[in-house]
Amino acid sequence: MLRLPLVEDSVAGADSPLKCMTWGLVSAGSSCQLGADNNPAQKLPPNEHARVAPAVRSPAVEEGLAQCPEPERARKRRLPGWLKKPLPRGNEAFYTHRLLRELRLETVCENSRCPNLPECYARRTATFMILGNICTRPCGFCAVARGKPLPVEADEPQRVAEAARRLGLRHVVITSVTRDDLPDGGAEHFYRCILAVRQLTEATVEVLTPDFLGNLRAVDRVLEAGPDVYNHNVETVPRLYRKVRGRADYNRSLRLLAHVKEQAPHIRTKSGLMLGLGETREELLEVLADLRQHGCDCLTLGQYLAPSLRHVPVVRYVPPHEFAELGQIAKRLGFLHVASGPFVRSSYHADEMVELSHGH
Ligand code: SF4
Repeated sequence: MLRLPLVEDSVAGADSPLKCMTWGLVSAGSSCQLGADNNPAQKLPPNEHARVAPAVRSPAVEEGLAQCPEPERARKRRLPGWLKKPLPRGNEAFYTHRLLRELRLETVCENSRCPNLPECYARRTATFMILGNICTRPCGFCAVARGKPLPVEADEPQRVAEAARRLGLRHVVITSVTRDDLPDGGAEHFYRCILAVRQLTEATVEVLTPDFLGNLRAVDRVLEAGPDVYNHNVETVPRLYRKVRGRADYNRSLRLLAHVKEQAPHIRTKSGLMLGLGETREELLEVLADLRQHGCDCLTLGQYLAPSLRHVPVVRYVPPHEFAELGQIAKRLGFLHVASGPFVRSSYHADEMVELSHGH
């Protein structure tokens, strides 16, 4: 069983169990289940190894560690049993890793340190993150680097499409860093990526976009490419926006979802929240009702996991039975499809969600 690449791992001391550098995970048993022979990172050239293997303890984490008293460290290391899951066997994920490196593509899976990465890469799925790997917004929950963003790469749409083709994806999920520096927030690039994937594959396409600062013309440009699913996460309840989402605006996000539904009723709209940030049940149910009122079709609910000591801390680990109950409530509210569970992320098994929701 493994612990996850989270703040809990980040505070693990030198005497902690073995670290699997491929995934940035730590085996709680005596050895990493991937083993030396099938550890994909060991087959990479040294310069790529550094890139694949996320830093387990950054300087920020070291600083946090130094300030963290021993009992607190021990407490932070403990995750509830339901947040431990085994690594997939074999080296299927290696193919995905190599392909992404070869095509110089970013994924939100790696950049956000998603706990599902081993499983998703082994299934040969990934969520492409376009427009670089540096975000212009300082959200308190997100592990993606922030700062001065990189220039837009004109050939990225073709590389995304090529990766989708070679991975054999039936459903392609494309997201991006938030690019408030670009006049259209990167909408044209989304448009070009969708068209490129359509030209090269028969896959359905899901976009997970930022809010484009409320620029609905930018949203319209993405819609012109005809994605099958338009996903925009509200992430948390409005009371926590300042702490968690910085410069985002809850009502702006709702307006975006409603606009998509008005302009393109046939496109599935989707949104998601992270639980465990300190939201109350009442607040959460209000958000679900708001989403339905604004035409949101599909919903994801998952456990928030702090990427480091510098990020907003987890307030509560929501047990699986609560996720199941919330999922039932959401379905009664009229969502076409709901994924609710500790490991659910907005793109987790997104292919299955699109198939199910199209059955309605
Ligand atoms: S859940 Fe989504 S972000 Fe996480 S590894 Fe899977 S595809 Fe990537």
